[in-house]
Parts: sequence; C-alpha cells; structure tokens
Amino acid sequence: MELSEEQFRRYARHLILDEVGEEGQEKLLSSRVLVVGAGGLGSPLLLYLAAAGVGTLGVIDNDRVDLTNLQRQIVHRTERVGDLKVESARATLAAVNDDIRVEAHPVRLGPDNAADIIARYDLVADGSDNFATRYLLTDQCFRLKKPLVAAALSPFEGQLSTFRPYLGAGHPCYRCLFREPPPPDLVPRCEEAGILGAVAGVMGTMQAVEVLKELLGLGDSLDGTLLIYEALAARFHRIRIGKDPECPTCGAGTASANG
Ligand SMILES: [Zn+2]
Repeated sequence: MELSEEQFRRYARHLILDEVGEEGQEKLLSSRVLVVGAGGLGSPLLLYLAAAGVGTLGVIDNDRVDLTNLQRQIVHRTERVGDLKVESARATLAAVNDDIRVEAHPVRLGPDNAADIIARYDLVADGSDNFATRYLLTDQCFRLKKPLVAAALSPFEGQLSTFRPYLGAGHPCYRCLFREPPPPDLVPRCEEAGILGAVAGVMGTMQAVEVLKELLGLGDSLDGTLLIYEALAARFHRIRIGKDPECPTCGAGTASANG
C-alpha cells in the first residue's frame, strides 16, 4: 500500500514519529478493529481510532441514541436522537475521516453471532456495559486468538486491561481475574448508577491508546496488568493479574490452552 498525498498530510504527526512512520501508518490503515458498544467508552475510542486512520472499524450496538446518552457519548449529536447508534457513529466518523471504512452491526452481540463477527477483525475493544457481553468476548476472543482490550466503568472509577490468553503461560484472561459474573442485581449499569461523563472519556481514550499500541506493537502491553483510575482521588494504580491454572476459559484443562 502506498500512502496518497492527502494521507501524507492527514497523518503527518504520526509519520514524523520514528515509532509509527510510514510503515506503522500503513499497518493502521490495513487494520480491522471491532468496537463493541457505541456508548461512553466506544465514543472516544471510535473517534480516536478513526482519526488515527485505523482502516476498518466495526461498530456493534443495537441501541438507539437517547437524549440521556449525550452527557457522555460524544460520538452522537442532539439531532440524531432516535437514530441507531451505529449509524449515528458512522456519520460522525465519516465527518472526522472519510479515509476509513465503518462497518455497522446494529445487532446485540450474543452466543449466536459473536464468533462470526469477531472472526472478521484483528482486535476487539470492549466498551460494553454488561457482564454477559464481557464474558462472551473473553471466551470468544480466546478461542479465536484475538487480542481483547477491555475497559469498564463505575461512577467515579475506570478499569482497563488487555487480554491475550492464547499466548499461554503468563497471559491471563478476564475470567482468571473474575471467575464468574456477579449476580445481575448487584451491578447497576450507567443508566441506573449514573457516571461522571468525562470519566468514560478518560477510559475510552486510554483504551484507544492501548489499541493503537497493540496494532503497532509499541511499548508495554497491559496484558497481565489491570490499570485502575480513581477519578475522585486523581490517582492511577496497577494490579498484576496472574493466570489461573484452573480458569474455565484459558486454564490448563481447556482444549486450546498451551501453557
Ligand atoms: Zn483465564
């Protein structure tokens, strides 16, 4: 792939970085990333990945834009209230960068369609707001050997990690950290719990950085580390995650585990 004159200008601030350069930019342009959820995390994630020139962005979300979303879901606009979120996101992203392709999946990710959709992408970024999706992605990304960059939010806190458990020993999955989803009545979603909108912005933006690092093979991966952001204390901290040999997804007893 040869960069066009317009691409040389658009991505100039990437191209002058030794760590990205033409080769890195071409890698981004040929990359396919699936973003799950066009909400609080998905918004900054999609905006930065589109601006960075990630060539194909899949967006999966079956919701429509609601007025209460706009406090944090910055990829959507007031005039698009009532539209499908994937179409609303597609319109914004096209205005930011018409050099990339957006593949809209206006469906709910479930056991029936997950493998088929995930298989078409190089990497998955989880910006979903529920445990069913998080565990489904954990299992399917392990099976299909796709890196999973996952973030989660509570009202004033965010968590972020990268999972590549198919690499074997030393590479845990989300289930190594939290074996089972908590009972549904214990985990209020944003809609019920509330959230300081900008906290979603911090986490979704950091998630975009980690996605770009994974695609470019840059720096230290968050694989094996949980990064926690406490907004009220203005503090970040990191927790090491060990691989659980008994993990039902990636442990020694599972078919595709190799460590
Ligand atoms: Zn595991």
